[in-house]
Amino acid sequence: MWIKRAKFCPVCQGGLELSSVGGRKRLRCVVCGCVLYENPASAAAAVILDKRRRVLLIRRDIAPFEGLWALPAGYQEIDEDPRQAAVREALEETGLEIQAGALIDLLYIPDDPRKPANLAVFLCSVVAGELCPGDDAREVAWFALDALPADMGFDNRERILLPLHRDPGRFGLG
Ligand SMILES: [Zn+2]
Repeated sequence: MWIKRAKFCPVCQGGLELSSVGGRKRLRCVVCGCVLYENPASAAAAVILDKRRRVLLIRRDIAPFEGLWALPAGYQEIDEDPRQAAVREALEETGLEIQAGALIDLLYIPDDPRKPANLAVFLCSVVAGELCPGDDAREVAWFALDALPADMGFDNRERILLPLHRDPGRFGLG
């Protein structure tokens, strides 16, 4: 289902064929034998809390889930670690410089319409900056954890924020 539509080998530009490798259908180069393994994408999300324990959400301006609220998040660049990705995405989308603290969850997201992803979720706090929606965000606002918007994308409510609200101690919050 997730087999890439690549046409040529990334190593030698040879042609590719579907073959059974390790019990799965995979694309393999007919010239050098290189196998194109398919892996989830790597993404990072920032749970930015203020002193009143409100969370900062953005209203998305792009698909998927355009128009819905979500945590500041995005894909990790090839040359940054997950924590740096969370900090960069938060700055781009909210205008705020944040500090990414504890890794509070590592979620496998099988149903992202673009590609399945591993999502590293960090507990974050604001260091500096002015709230200003940017990049993929059309709006940015603080929400109490018991008054989250109903229209949230990526199941952020159910997968991340409601567990945090119900059992803050589990996430290192007293
Ligand atoms: Zn090849």
